[in-house]
Amino acid sequence: MLVSIAAYSWLFGWVLAIGIVLILLIHELGHVFMALVLKIRIGYPIFYPGVGAIIDLHQITPSPTDNALLGISGPICGTIASATCWGIYALTGVHYWAELAFMGMMFNLFNLIPLGEMDGGRVSTVLSRWLCIPGYLLLGALAWIVRTPIVLLSLIFMLPTVVEVFKNKRKLSTEDKRVLPSDRLIIGTGYLLLICFLTFGSWFLLTKVIAPGFQDGRSHLFPHRHQMVKKAP
Ligand SMILES: [Zn+2]
Repeated sequence: MLVSIAAYSWLFGWVLAIGIVLILLIHELGHVFMALVLKIRIGYPIFYPGVGAIIDLHQITPSPTDNALLGISGPICGTIASATCWGIYALTGVHYWAELAFMGMMFNLFNLIPLGEMDGGRVSTVLSRWLCIPGYLLLGALAWIVRTPIVLLSLIFMLPTVVEVFKNKRKLSTEDKRVLPSDRLIIGTGYLLLICFLTFGSWFLLTKVIAPGFQDGRSHLFPHRHQMVKKAP
Protein backbone atom coordinates (compact mmCIF):
# COMPACT_ATOMS: atom_id res chain seq x y z
CA MET A 1 0.00 0.00 0.00
CA LEU A 2 2.84 2.42 0.82
CA VAL A 3 4.48 1.52 -2.48
CA SER A 4 1.19 2.40 -4.17
CA ILE A 5 1.08 5.81 -2.45
CA ALA A 6 4.68 6.41 -3.51
CA ALA A 7 3.96 5.43 -7.12
CA TYR A 8 0.87 7.62 -7.36
CA SER A 9 2.69 10.49 -5.62
CA TRP A 10 5.29 10.40 -8.32
CA LEU A 11 2.53 10.50 -10.96
CA PHE A 12 0.01 12.93 -9.46
CA GLY A 13 1.43 14.57 -6.33
CA TRP A 14 0.99 13.20 -2.83
CA VAL A 15 -2.31 14.88 -1.85
CA LEU A 16 -4.02 13.26 -4.81
CA ALA A 17 -2.11 10.01 -4.23
CA ILE A 18 -3.47 9.58 -0.71
CA GLY A 19 -6.99 10.23 -1.98
CA ILE A 20 -6.61 7.67 -4.78
CA VAL A 21 -5.31 4.99 -2.42
CA LEU A 22 -8.20 5.70 -0.02
CA ILE A 23 -10.70 5.19 -2.86
CA LEU A 24 -8.93 1.92 -3.73
CA LEU A 25 -9.13 0.89 -0.08
CA ILE A 26 -12.89 1.57 0.05
CA HIS A 27 -13.22 -0.47 -3.17
CA GLU A 28 -11.33 -3.36 -1.57
CA LEU A 29 -13.38 -3.13 1.63
CA GLY A 30 -16.43 -3.66 -0.59
CA HIS A 31 -14.98 -7.03 -1.65
CA VAL A 32 -14.05 -7.91 1.93
CA PHE A 33 -17.56 -7.05 3.16
CA MET A 34 -19.19 -9.20 0.45
CA ALA A 35 -16.80 -12.08 1.22
CA LEU A 36 -17.92 -11.89 4.87
CA VAL A 37 -21.59 -11.88 3.84
CA LEU A 38 -21.07 -14.87 1.50
CA LYS A 39 -18.80 -16.55 4.07
CA ILE A 40 -15.95 -16.90 1.57
CA ARG A 41 -12.50 -16.81 3.13
CA ILE A 42 -10.22 -14.33 1.40
CA GLY A 43 -6.75 -12.97 2.05
CA TYR A 44 -5.69 -9.35 2.47
CA PRO A 45 -6.01 -7.25 -0.68
CA ILE A 46 -2.68 -6.97 -2.50
CA PHE A 47 -2.03 -3.49 -3.88
CA TYR A 48 -0.50 -3.24 -7.34
CA PRO A 49 0.80 0.24 -8.08
CA GLY A 50 -0.87 1.56 -11.21
CA VAL A 51 -3.69 -0.97 -11.51
CA GLY A 52 -5.27 -1.13 -8.07
CA ALA A 53 -5.55 -4.14 -5.86
CA ILE A 54 -6.43 -7.79 -6.26
CA ILE A 55 -8.12 -10.03 -3.72
CA ASP A 56 -6.58 -13.38 -2.96
CA LEU A 57 -9.15 -16.17 -2.98
CA HIS A 58 -6.88 -18.91 -1.56
CA GLN A 59 -7.57 -21.00 -4.67
CA ILE A 60 -11.26 -21.41 -3.81
CA THR A 61 -13.69 -21.32 -6.73
CA PRO A 62 -17.03 -19.96 -5.55
CA SER A 63 -20.23 -20.54 -7.54
CA PRO A 64 -20.63 -18.19 -10.54
CA THR A 65 -23.22 -16.08 -8.68
CA ASP A 66 -21.06 -15.71 -5.55
CA ASN A 67 -18.05 -14.96 -7.72
CA ALA A 68 -19.97 -12.22 -9.56
CA LEU A 69 -21.26 -10.71 -6.31
CA LEU A 70 -17.74 -10.74 -4.93
CA GLY A 71 -16.51 -9.04 -8.10
CA ILE A 72 -19.14 -6.32 -8.36
CA SER A 73 -19.12 -5.33 -4.66
CA GLY A 74 -15.74 -3.57 -4.95
CA PRO A 75 -16.64 -1.36 -7.92
CA ILE A 76 -20.00 -0.53 -6.27
CA CYS A 77 -18.22 0.81 -3.15
CA GLY A 78 -15.49 2.47 -5.24
CA THR A 79 -18.13 4.15 -7.38
CA ILE A 80 -20.00 5.42 -4.30
CA ALA A 81 -16.71 6.83 -2.96
CA SER A 82 -15.93 8.52 -6.31
CA ALA A 83 -19.47 9.89 -6.60
CA THR A 84 -19.15 11.30 -3.07
CA CYS A 85 -15.97 13.13 -4.16
CA TRP A 86 -17.90 14.49 -7.14
CA GLY A 87 -20.64 15.63 -4.75
CA ILE A 88 -18.08 17.41 -2.53
CA TYR A 89 -16.70 19.13 -5.64
CA ALA A 90 -20.22 20.22 -6.65
CA LEU A 91 -20.78 21.71 -3.18
CA THR A 92 -17.38 23.31 -2.57
CA GLY A 93 -15.99 23.92 -6.05
CA VAL A 94 -12.56 22.71 -4.88
CA HIS A 95 -10.83 21.29 -7.97
CA TYR A 96 -9.03 18.57 -6.01
CA TRP A 97 -12.29 16.68 -5.43
CA ALA A 98 -13.11 16.66 -9.14
CA GLU A 99 -9.67 15.24 -9.97
CA LEU A 100 -10.05 12.61 -7.26
CA ALA A 101 -13.55 11.67 -8.48
CA PHE A 102 -12.20 11.35 -12.04
CA MET A 103 -9.29 9.14 -11.01
CA GLY A 104 -11.55 6.99 -8.84
CA MET A 105 -13.99 6.53 -11.71
CA MET A 106 -11.23 5.59 -14.15
CA PHE A 107 -9.83 2.96 -11.77
CA ASN A 108 -13.23 1.43 -11.12
CA LEU A 109 -14.03 1.42 -14.82
CA PHE A 110 -10.71 -0.28 -15.58
CA ASN A 111 -11.46 -2.97 -13.00
CA LEU A 112 -14.79 -3.68 -14.69
CA ILE A 113 -13.12 -4.95 -17.88
CA PRO A 114 -14.62 -8.45 -18.22
CA LEU A 115 -11.41 -10.44 -18.04
CA GLY A 116 -9.92 -13.16 -15.86
CA GLU A 117 -9.34 -12.29 -12.21
CA MET A 118 -10.40 -8.68 -12.66
CA ASP A 119 -13.68 -7.62 -11.03
CA GLY A 120 -15.40 -7.49 -14.43
CA GLY A 121 -14.07 -10.99 -15.12
CA ARG A 122 -15.79 -12.27 -11.97
CA VAL A 123 -19.03 -10.56 -13.00
CA SER A 124 -18.79 -12.12 -16.48
CA THR A 125 -19.11 -15.61 -14.93
CA VAL A 126 -22.87 -15.02 -14.57
CA LEU A 127 -23.25 -13.24 -17.92
CA SER A 128 -21.07 -14.95 -20.49
CA ARG A 129 -17.54 -16.27 -20.34
CA TRP A 130 -17.11 -15.09 -23.91
CA LEU A 131 -17.08 -11.50 -22.66
CA CYS A 132 -13.38 -12.14 -22.09
CA ILE A 133 -12.82 -11.68 -25.85
CA PRO A 134 -14.10 -8.06 -26.05
CA GLY A 135 -12.49 -7.61 -22.61
CA TYR A 136 -9.12 -8.68 -23.93
CA LEU A 137 -9.47 -6.51 -27.04
CA LEU A 138 -10.38 -3.56 -24.81
CA LEU A 139 -7.29 -4.12 -22.66
CA GLY A 140 -5.25 -4.37 -25.87
CA ALA A 141 -6.67 -1.05 -27.12
CA LEU A 142 -5.92 0.51 -23.73
CA ALA A 143 -2.36 -0.83 -23.80
CA TRP A 144 -1.97 0.75 -27.23
CA ILE A 145 -3.32 4.13 -26.04
CA VAL A 146 -1.49 4.48 -22.73
CA ARG A 147 1.60 2.36 -23.50
CA THR A 148 2.34 1.87 -19.81
CA PRO A 149 4.43 -1.22 -18.97
CA ILE A 150 1.92 -2.40 -16.35
CA VAL A 151 -0.95 -2.52 -18.88
CA LEU A 152 1.26 -4.26 -21.43
CA LEU A 153 2.29 -6.76 -18.75
CA SER A 154 -1.31 -7.43 -17.73
CA LEU A 155 -2.04 -8.07 -21.41
CA ILE A 156 0.52 -10.91 -21.30
CA PHE A 157 -0.66 -12.17 -17.89
CA MET A 158 -4.30 -12.25 -19.00
CA LEU A 159 -3.73 -14.27 -22.16
CA PRO A 160 -3.87 -17.68 -20.37
CA THR A 161 -7.31 -16.81 -18.89
CA VAL A 162 -8.68 -16.29 -22.42
CA VAL A 163 -7.06 -19.53 -23.63
CA GLU A 164 -8.60 -21.32 -20.63
CA VAL A 165 -12.13 -20.27 -21.63
CA PHE A 166 -11.58 -21.87 -25.04
CA LYS A 167 -10.05 -25.00 -23.49
CA ASN A 168 -12.75 -25.54 -20.84
CA LYS A 169 -15.63 -24.53 -23.10
CA ARG A 170 -17.85 -27.50 -22.22
CA LYS A 171 -17.19 -27.56 -18.49
CA LEU A 172 -17.79 -23.83 -18.14
CA SER A 173 -20.99 -23.87 -20.18
CA THR A 174 -22.54 -26.54 -17.91
CA GLU A 175 -21.51 -24.42 -14.94
CA ASP A 176 -23.09 -21.36 -16.56
CA LYS A 177 -26.42 -23.19 -16.92
CA ARG A 178 -26.68 -23.40 -13.13
CA VAL A 179 -26.99 -19.60 -12.86
CA LEU A 180 -30.52 -18.44 -12.05
CA PRO A 181 -31.91 -16.13 -14.75
CA SER A 182 -32.94 -13.64 -12.04
CA ASP A 183 -29.34 -13.48 -10.71
CA ARG A 184 -28.11 -12.96 -14.25
CA LEU A 185 -30.62 -10.14 -14.81
CA ILE A 186 -29.97 -8.30 -11.53
CA ILE A 187 -26.17 -8.54 -11.58
CA GLY A 188 -26.06 -7.83 -15.34
CA THR A 189 -28.20 -4.70 -14.90
CA GLY A 190 -26.02 -3.51 -12.02
CA TYR A 191 -22.89 -4.10 -14.09
CA LEU A 192 -24.26 -2.12 -17.05
CA LEU A 193 -25.46 0.72 -14.82
CA LEU A 194 -22.01 0.97 -13.19
CA ILE A 195 -20.29 1.07 -16.58
CA CYS A 196 -22.70 3.73 -17.90
CA PHE A 197 -22.38 5.90 -14.79
CA LEU A 198 -18.58 5.64 -14.62
CA THR A 199 -18.16 6.28 -18.36
CA PHE A 200 -20.47 9.29 -18.28
CA GLY A 201 -19.00 10.59 -15.01
CA SER A 202 -15.37 10.37 -16.06
CA TRP A 203 -16.15 11.83 -19.51
CA PHE A 204 -18.11 14.71 -17.93
CA LEU A 205 -15.47 15.47 -15.30
CA LEU A 206 -12.67 15.32 -17.84
CA THR A 207 -14.21 17.45 -20.57
CA LYS A 208 -16.22 19.91 -18.45
CA VAL A 209 -14.25 20.31 -15.23
CA ILE A 210 -10.70 18.98 -15.19
CA ALA A 211 -9.55 19.78 -18.68
CA PRO A 212 -12.09 21.71 -20.76
CA GLY A 213 -10.69 21.77 -24.26
CA PHE A 214 -8.99 18.41 -23.69
CA GLN A 215 -10.63 16.96 -26.80
CA ASP A 216 -9.12 19.53 -29.15
CA GLY A 217 -5.73 19.31 -27.48
CA ARG A 218 -5.85 22.77 -25.90
CA SER A 219 -5.64 21.57 -22.36
CA HIS A 220 -3.74 19.14 -20.18
CA LEU A 221 -5.09 16.49 -17.90
CA PHE A 222 -3.49 17.71 -14.69
CA PRO A 223 -2.95 21.45 -15.02
CA HIS A 224 -0.79 21.85 -11.92
CA ARG A 225 1.61 19.21 -13.19
CA HIS A 226 1.67 20.88 -16.60
CA GLN A 227 2.40 24.28 -15.02
CA MET A 228 5.34 22.78 -13.16
CA VAL A 229 6.73 21.55 -16.46
CA LYS A 230 5.93 24.82 -18.22
CA LYS A 231 7.73 27.00 -15.70
CA ALA A 232 11.01 25.19 -16.25
CA PRO A 233 12.49 26.95 -19.34
ZN1 LIG B 1 -11.85 -4.96 -7.12
